[in-house]
Amino acid sequence: LRTLVVVLGDQLDLEASGFDGFDAGLDAVWMAEVAQESTHVWSSKPRTVLFLAAMRHFALALQAAGRALHYTRLEAPDNAGSLAAQLQADLTRLRPARLVMTAPGDWRVLKALQAVAQASGLPLEVREDRHFFCSVREFAAHARGRKSLRMEYFYREQRQRQQVLMQDDGPVGGQWNFDADNREAFGAAGPGAVPPRPRFEPDAVTREVITLVDTRLASHPGRLDGFAWPVTRAQAQQALQAFIRERLPRFGRYQDAMWPAEPWLYHSHLSAALNLKLLNPREVVAAAQAAWQDGSAPLASVEGFIRQILGWREYVRGIYWTRMPAYLEGNALEAREDLPAWYWTGRTDMACLRDTLAQTLEHGYAHHIQRLMVTGLYALMLGVEPRQVHAWYLAVYVDAVEWVELPNTLGMSQYADGGLMGSKPYIATGKYIERMSPYCKGCRYDPAQRSGERACPFTTLYWDFLMRHETMLAKHPRVALQVKNLARLDDGQKRAVQDRAAAIRRGEVGVGPETRPANL
Ligand code: FAD
Ligand code: SF4
Repeated sequence: LRTLVVVLGDQLDLEASGFDGFDAGLDAVWMAEVAQESTHVWSSKPRTVLFLAAMRHFALALQAAGRALHYTRLEAPDNAGSLAAQLQADLTRLRPARLVMTAPGDWRVLKALQAVAQASGLPLEVREDRHFFCSVREFAAHARGRKSLRMEYFYREQRQRQQVLMQDDGPVGGQWNFDADNREAFGAAGPGAVPPRPRFEPDAVTREVITLVDTRLASHPGRLDGFAWPVTRAQAQQALQAFIRERLPRFGRYQDAMWPAEPWLYHSHLSAALNLKLLNPREVVAAAQAAWQDGSAPLASVEGFIRQILGWREYVRGIYWTRMPAYLEGNALEAREDLPAWYWTGRTDMACLRDTLAQTLEHGYAHHIQRLMVTGLYALMLGVEPRQVHAWYLAVYVDAVEWVELPNTLGMSQYADGGLMGSKPYIATGKYIERMSPYCKGCRYDPAQRSGERACPFTTLYWDFLMRHETMLAKHPRVALQVKNLARLDDGQKRAVQDRAAAIRRGEVGVGPETRPANL
């Protein structure tokens, strides 16, 4: 065997650089399903099923393409349990002359595989991942010499370099950014008839994986009865087309809005397909741009959507790979609380959190504002240790891979990197959630109250956060105004907030009844 091409569960692309120069007569592909990838964080069942089902379908695609494959299944009796141990075992058996792979998404995995190659005395060639628009080297060049990094400038550079939504050197429509048009709530009438989400019913391969995960990872969080994610490239392409046709026109306008029991709204739900590399971001961006050109979607929606992919997605990858491994240790606010146990069960009496957690555990999905301004905001203001918040986000969402999850969680949501990712901590009272959703109407708490029995825990924790971090926040131009409001509170009012916050931290507030089965 000349070359063994290592393919990871999030590298399911027949065109990946790892396959360049592949010779069917001389080379082979290596893939492995290992328990460690589902247990190093307490991976939810939907997430594990998605990865394994997509891997097994990709294995079929490799075989159809005539590429020899060495594939270890999770249930194989001699499964070594981790990527490193399995590769080590297989190298002894297969004796390739060298290893090749597309650059992995995780720092941890790269280090582990490099160590195996070194221990085996084999050269390992790690190739650029051309799935992304911007290489890590290009990102590093962009970052060099800048006092602070801001997504907006990176994004504008990407638009120019890739010639996306550009005309005569300027942005089409005369504006780079349509954020101001993209913050509407649904209003009293609600979202109306949201198009049904395209469902991909599990075939025999996926059903087998569902049974396997339900048996072997029975105690893991999440449900599988409604599993309908795309697991092949063809399905992912169908999902993309359905989004462009049915949802993109309203994507921008309602990007930040929330509605109870409506998990899908006008979002694309394409993050998992993109992160597994079933879809290429170029085809996604091109499809959105074409929808604007042919008049089927407004510019504000199309620009808002493209900004997420050409901007944020590339930007967080650059941050991750230029800052790891130190990034993982960030805890700028010195947060030390434990994550409340009900994050894993949804058993809370806070309506916004209960609904967000229920859909998260059922589908492995929540949209950005739910992640940032419901689950993330609560953990930030409670003061949860960032590593625990990170472990939760990495476990529960079907699109969770560390390069994208970590900067979003530690940086944007928890401000644990001290402001590298986001320019300020995202803090707000329950009033923000009241503005963007009708959750508060159906909640036992009142977002306008900061202390007392009916005080919304978000509102209490907001004022408590301002007090705890007053000195740091006062120096921050974008939140200094919020801190100034503290002066409106007398000592008694401040103490009432602190007492209530302490009760929340002791778990005396917010914990809900047992309304769900044990594993939900
Ligand atoms: P849409 O709203 O339709 O957006 C389109 C696409 O843009 C997404 O599919 C995604 O690929 C990309 N995108 C949007 N926002 C971001 C962002 N902030 N960073 C990177 N890409 C973005 N995204 C993940 O893919 N994996 C994660 O593990 C993940 N963890 C997150 C954790 C937290 C705390 C927060 C605040 C955000 C996280 N995100 C993560 C970003 C974002 O919330 C999801 O990409 C998005 O909600 C996925 O749903 P969608 O495909 O319907 O997105
Ligand atoms: Fe959430 Fe507070 Fe509103 Fe209840 S009152 S739904 S806890 S924001």
